[in-house]
Order: sequence, then C-alpha cells, then structure tokens
Amino acid sequence: MRSPNVKLDELVAQGKVDREDSTLMNVKVPTGLVNRIDRMAAHLRSSKTELVIALLNEGLDAAEEELKGWKPPPKPVIAKDRRCSVKDCDREKIAKGLCATHYQAQRRARR
Ligand SMILES: [Zn+2]
Repeated sequence: MRSPNVKLDELVAQGKVDREDSTLMNVKVPTGLVNRIDRMAAHLRSSKTELVIALLNEGLDAAEEELKGWKPPPKPVIAKDRRCSVKDCDREKIAKGLCATHYQAQRRARR
C-alpha cells in the first residue's frame, strides 16, 4: 500500500511514495458507489484501496478547510427543574426524574 497521504493527483501521476502502517476499516458502502470506485480505479490503473485512500485524503482536506473557524453550537442549557436527578448529570429528565440514559440504566439494573 502507498502512503496514507496519497492524493488523487499522485495516483494519476502514478508516483511512488513511502509505505506506512495500515488498519483494516470495515465500512458498508452503497453498491453503486463501489461500482464507481471499481471503474475509476481501473481507469487510473490503481488499486481500489489506493483510490479510496486518495479520495478520503482529498475529502478530509476539503472538510478541514471548510470547517476552519467553525465551532459546534453550544449545548442547550436545561432548566434545573427539568434536569435529571442524578448528581452531575445535566440531561433533561424523561421519566421518574431521570434522563433517558439513567432511566435505562436503572431499568437494566432491576432485571
Ligand atoms: Zn441522567
């Protein structure tokens, strides 16, 4: 396998780059997409793995650029009288004074 940093233009140029450790990543992909990957890999005379890694690198670079300066929206503050009764839990209560997580935990513990 090629470098984990391989980009599409490098695949197109078929340049040799260093190898690096890899990990198997099991991802369910729509069949139509797999067919497109097959065709593009054949067109570029690269392996599907190389192509997917190049596409991921391109996509991650684009996403990082797009997300520069972006911050997740602040978590909504739940009013004290609507909060879960478990200490340090700030989620909204849904049943018996507990949030969904703690209510389910309590139910599981009773079984
Ligand atoms: Zn809770």
